[in-house]
Amino acid sequence: MIFFSTSKSSAPVSLKKATLEGLAPDGGLYVPSEVPRFSPEELSLLEDGTFNNIAFAIAKKFAGAEIPLDLLSGLVDECFDFDTPLVGIGEETFVEELFHGPTLAFKDYGARFLGRLTGLFAAEENRMITVLVATSGDTGSAVAYGFDGIPNTRVVLLYPSGKVSRLQEQQLTTAGDNVFALEVKGDFDDCQRLVKQAFVDPDLKKALTLTSANSINISRLIPQSFYYAWASMQLARRFPGRTAAFSVPSGNYGNVTAGVLARMMGFPIGHFIAASNANDSVTRYLDNGRFEPRPTVKTMTTAMDVGNPSNFARLLHFYDHDFRKMGEQITGISVTDQETAATIRSVYEACGYIMDPHTAVGYRALEEYRNTHKGSGYPGVVLSTAHPVKFDDAIMTAINREVPIPEEMLEVMARPKKATLIGNGYAELSKFLQNLDR
Ligand SMILES: *Cc1c(COP(=O)(O)O)cnc(C)c1O
Repeated sequence: MIFFSTSKSSAPVSLKKATLEGLAPDGGLYVPSEVPRFSPEELSLLEDGTFNNIAFAIAKKFAGAEIPLDLLSGLVDECFDFDTPLVGIGEETFVEELFHGPTLAFKDYGARFLGRLTGLFAAEENRMITVLVATSGDTGSAVAYGFDGIPNTRVVLLYPSGKVSRLQEQQLTTAGDNVFALEVKGDFDDCQRLVKQAFVDPDLKKALTLTSANSINISRLIPQSFYYAWASMQLARRFPGRTAAFSVPSGNYGNVTAGVLARMMGFPIGHFIAASNANDSVTRYLDNGRFEPRPTVKTMTTAMDVGNPSNFARLLHFYDHDFRKMGEQITGISVTDQETAATIRSVYEACGYIMDPHTAVGYRALEEYRNTHKGSGYPGVVLSTAHPVKFDDAIMTAINREVPIPEEMLEVMARPKKATLIGNGYAELSKFLQNLDR
């Protein structure tokens, strides 16, 4: 499959090139030249398929010409060796729990697939790829565990000392020998500044192949379409002749873009609710067709605090830059912190289910959509993007309950921390990177 840039002035590339490059040279985001489609016959063959069957069927369409199928199938099985449960909470409402991967958040889906594809392509090219990331917590841990032990790759991640939770720090500092955690004496902005400086450092460019692993990489997006396809197929079986609506807690809008991809491929999806917090640039665009990003505001759903979403360029591309067309399939709903906390409480009281704040934003937006679109008739899926234990302070405040740490995490909590403490000046980072191969 061929990919081209949303800015349209770079040459089209293979999946390998798009994966290893991340961002196109013209600054645009890679999109498939043509979205593959599943025929009704192909879909009916997948009706009783497992998550991994469906994931492989989709991966094959994007990568089949570049990766031998037995290798690709093994890679999919390695990535998704955990469950993706669809939990019913109420008549026609389901929570798709995307937090059963190693770092308890949905970013594991993208990071694990990207890690393995990067390793495979880097080995073919006989290269060592160094992934450099600044993190305030969640992206870094998913990347650390996504690339953990993958040959031909290593990860250097910078996190602000004392400014991540204990659980996050454990996840950042306990992955394998090819993952190097740098604990920076400074804040997240210092980490980002250092990483930016490294990317433009000509001496480093000579010594290392640096890439970033942020959500603009097409190989993080493709695997996120798998769980939309999987849930939509299960609901189609349960509600014959009807399509599902997905409510998606959104920050950079990569997740909802992956859903749009699944819908274009032909999976039975009727509508999207793009749920935002007070950072509502896309919500306002869907209302009036004007994209006017604003500075980021802090909310209790920190992973969605994005003023200028990076995947918006892809959404525009898929809807021909037409906000009315986008609005026919995506409804934007913004949710306040107060509503989020009230939703955690009311869902817990009504059915005993504890949801993390990001998931609660999605749940609340689905309720609001149903109230304002009576008779729309979609069974609804709320994507649960994180395990509630990751935001246990918010849960404590909302319902006065502790969230027990899941079994798998206890083992990670017991591992010894491996991190190198550095100052916030560039010289120390540059020295560390220059010495990686010595
Ligand atoms: C990253 C993240 C989001 C936002 O996802 P996007 O793809 O950036 O829209 C939502 N919830 C959680 C828990 C996240 O980590």
